[in-house]
Amino acid sequence: AIAGEIQASDVDTLKVHMPLCMEHLHDELRREKHTRHGGRMQYGLFLKGMGLSLEQALIFWQMAFEKLTPEQFNKNYAYNVRHSYGMEGKRTDYTPYSCKSIIMNNAPGPGDHHGCPFRHFSAPNLRAQLAAHQVDEFDTDDIIHKVQQRHYQIACTRYYEVTRAKMVGISPENIKGGLSDSATGSLIASQEVIEHPNQFFEQSYLLMKS
Ligand code: SF4
Repeated sequence: AIAGEIQASDVDTLKVHMPLCMEHLHDELRREKHTRHGGRMQYGLFLKGMGLSLEQALIFWQMAFEKLTPEQFNKNYAYNVRHSYGMEGKRTDYTPYSCKSIIMNNAPGPGDHHGCPFRHFSAPNLRAQLAAHQVDEFDTDDIIHKVQQRHYQIACTRYYEVTRAKMVGISPENIKGGLSDSATGSLIASQEVIEHPNQFFEQSYLLMKS
């Protein structure tokens, strides 16, 4: 993992580098003090990809589910955390989900917070999320247009560019990783489309460190 081994207590600070899908899961986890299975899998494996060890993951989830006693947590949830680290059952060492997998599989139902906001949020809800991240009207329209064309990962890539450009105070075209091809205005030919939530995180993390 790019950030080295991270501690349960680092996750809130590192949220600033997360893509919208994971930020949403994190915020809803903090709000509800709970996450349903689909969200625990998507977010838990992402955190694993960030460098959260099994030991720290157990601490993170137990503290997050603060309404539960340690006994209730151990009885109902600890197995699943260990399982996703390959320590139970068939001992499969699960890897974090790619964007394609999040977009195509297991669409969220009512009360679920997993999925991809660009794919699964309503347009008004997505607009509100973008506004909350200081994306201006022009870029918001551009992102929504890409969503309407079903280019969800390209929409996420555009979101990365405009938000990270603002964070480091440069123009989006100069964001390292060259996420846009300004000559053609096309991102589709580019190899630099966001393919994985952990890629988004790592690029953002490295950009801010540089
Ligand atoms: Fe997350 Fe990928 Fe969707 Fe971006 S495109 S919000 S990283 S699932």
